[in-house]
Amino acid sequence: MTTDTIISRCEAHGLRMTGPRRTIARILQESDDHPDVEELHARANALDSRISLATVYRTVKLFEESGILDRLEFGDGRARYEDADREHHDHLIDLNTGEVIEFCDPEIEALQEKIAQKLGYRLKGHKLELYGVPIKRER
Ligand SMILES: [Zn+2]
Repeated sequence: MTTDTIISRCEAHGLRMTGPRRTIARILQESDDHPDVEELHARANALDSRISLATVYRTVKLFEESGILDRLEFGDGRARYEDADREHHDHLIDLNTGEVIEFCDPEIEALQEKIAQKLGYRLKGHKLELYGVPIKRER
């Protein structure tokens, strides 16, 4: 877990930080959800109306290629992004609302390590996505 900001990591990667890139980096830094490009564009536009959708597309692609952002796909064809440096967690997607819930379960983490080990591997990472609908409570 690092305390480096997205902007400082971009600079460490030698990315030229134009005004729009700085604005987009700041929005990502302050986001604790999983915005897609259109949502990022809306947030960026609230700060600077000159930032185009194409600029947001190019910028997140650049950040992703630099390992600064993680690209997430939750089965609806929309790519979403989050800070690659966020503490490890997995995602549960509510199929009714599209809401994304973050969780981290030590038993699942340990089980995955065990499975990899059994198969002769040292685990370097994993992605886990659960898809569900809320359980209706009986009255
Ligand atoms: Zn997440």
